[in-house]
Amino acid sequence: MEEYQQSVLYVEDNELNMELMHHIFKKHLPSVLLLKAETAEHGLEIAACQLPDLIIMDIGLPGMNGYEAMERLRSKESTSRIPVMAISAFARHSDIEQARTTGFAAYLTKPFQVKVFTRTVKELLTEGPYTP
Ligand SMILES: [Mg+2]
Repeated sequence: MEEYQQSVLYVEDNELNMELMHHIFKKHLPSVLLLKAETAEHGLEIAACQLPDLIIMDIGLPGMNGYEAMERLRSKESTSRIPVMAISAFARHSDIEQARTTGFAAYLTKPFQVKVFTRTVKELLTEGPYTP
């Protein structure tokens, strides 16, 4: 049984992106447990019961989108301070601006550089275990 020090929740509806993330974590972030959700609704449930140290959020999702999910996370006491970074194919200036006002800790556009991604995740995890 592996021992994980921290956990990250990835909310992503694209199967290939999820698989890619699985490999990135295995290779570059082996001590971090990757939790997975394919919809925002499922992601909110996992976030509330597992309290991950970081959430990586896709914006374009079926049903509730990433912005709305972010608002829900912020409005709930226990999840309100979990850092959330967005990864999205939406790369217009207005998208990045909206992400900033929504309060995302970081915003990466797809396709992202693995090196930049890994560095960003490590930075956001330096706060240590999340406590609500
Ligand atoms: Mg998507």
